[in-house]
Amino acid sequence: MDLKMFADSVRIFIKSGKGGDGHVSFRRELFVPDGGPDGGDGGRGGDVIFVVDKGLNTLGDFRHNKKYIAESGEEGGKRRCHGKDGEDLIIKVPEGTVIKDDATGKVITDMSGDNMREVVLRGGRGGKGNMNYATATMQAPKYAQPGQEAQEIWVRLELKVIADVGLVGFPNVGKSTFLSRVTNARPKIANYHFTTLSPNLGVVDLDGHGFVIADIPGLIEGASEGTGLGHEFLRHIERTKVLIHMVDAASTEGRDPIEDINTINAELEAYNPDLLKRPQVIAANKTDVIYSDDENPVDRLKAEFEPKGIKVFPISAVSGKGVKELLYAVRDMLDSIDEEPTVFAREFFTEDILDNPDEPFTISRGDDASFIIEGPRIDRMLGYTNLDSERGFNYFQKFMHENGIIEQLKNMGIKEGDTVKVGGYLEFDYYE
Ligand code: GDP
Ligand code: MG
Repeated sequence: MDLKMFADSVRIFIKSGKGGDGHVSFRRELFVPDGGPDGGDGGRGGDVIFVVDKGLNTLGDFRHNKKYIAESGEEGGKRRCHGKDGEDLIIKVPEGTVIKDDATGKVITDMSGDNMREVVLRGGRGGKGNMNYATATMQAPKYAQPGQEAQEIWVRLELKVIADVGLVGFPNVGKSTFLSRVTNARPKIANYHFTTLSPNLGVVDLDGHGFVIADIPGLIEGASEGTGLGHEFLRHIERTKVLIHMVDAASTEGRDPIEDINTINAELEAYNPDLLKRPQVIAANKTDVIYSDDENPVDRLKAEFEPKGIKVFPISAVSGKGVKELLYAVRDMLDSIDEEPTVFAREFFTEDILDNPDEPFTISRGDDASFIIEGPRIDRMLGYTNLDSERGFNYFQKFMHENGIIEQLKNMGIKEGDTVKVGGYLEFDYYE
């Protein structure tokens, strides 16, 4: 089995555009000796946007390019010129792609159902030019607001095939044989948005009313712990509604079919307990080679599982015997399930990347023995505070106290008259 054919999980780096910095400049005109501030605002940084492209069916394109960076906003200019906004970056993914934070595995968004377009990272806001900071008392503000930082994150894209029915079972029980017998060829596939068919997906067409089956090969003991191929394929069954559990009822390899079922169910449960809540049927395959004079293995399976509500269908994938009955029963089960397909709920909010309350600021020492205060929350506070107004300056001092910044400066041994630099452009001397 060639795993790459699935290309069903990739890790990529995405980054939005930084906001353009605000500009500092003053109007200079002939006969106007002291022009006012006229530095324009910076442009917005571009967003990173994921969009479903129904023509795609693998994540193969992401194998070669791992970095996706939206354009930054341009800096503001003289004469109140607004910097150009950065372009958004559109990333096209197949339907059914789940986007997760790579570090925590938490779901950011699930590109399925109605969710065809999602802004995953926002571009930074443009900084305000010094034209915004003129006040009655301060006619010539010499600073402008820096653009807001970009957001960046490693995400994992996982493509979960949207199949109605999952086909599970030990190797060599006859899954591929069954799939190739019951599913028809390519033309129908287009209706289900698979333009090329992976060998493990097929569309069953029952009198024009069909469903998609996914073969989950290589499901073996330990799959739920990530050993073997099984783990890769377990992803595909998370969205299926009904499971066909196939066993070799003739024990051609010497294993006991009841034990096989219990082993695989334990695997499914370990991976995701919800999987076992799905309706299951048992396909007791290879009945054409049951010669035993003892108790019929199909009867043993029925006695064991039918009291638990799991129906057993004796079939032969090779001869086709019993296959139709199984398929009609599966379709009836699908028809009786009216719940929406599973859509993974959001667990991770990219908005939080910028505002991390655990790390609101950092203070370091500059080469010139100054104290440098930095951090996204500092930038934002400066963005909405006009330091030239008395009220703004009071607010700034209050912010410095309430966030423990003054206390930390004292702990670091600050003395009267020392220089403090804030947010990359504001400087003042420290006095108690
Ligand atoms: P998978 O590993 O579950 O996909 O199993 P395969 O479909 O590859 O089948 C494994 C072997 O079992 C092959 O040699 C098939 O020809 C054989 N096989 C599959 N179904 C039947 C059946 O109904 N009767 C018999 N006698 N052999 C079967
Ligand atoms: Mg197979």
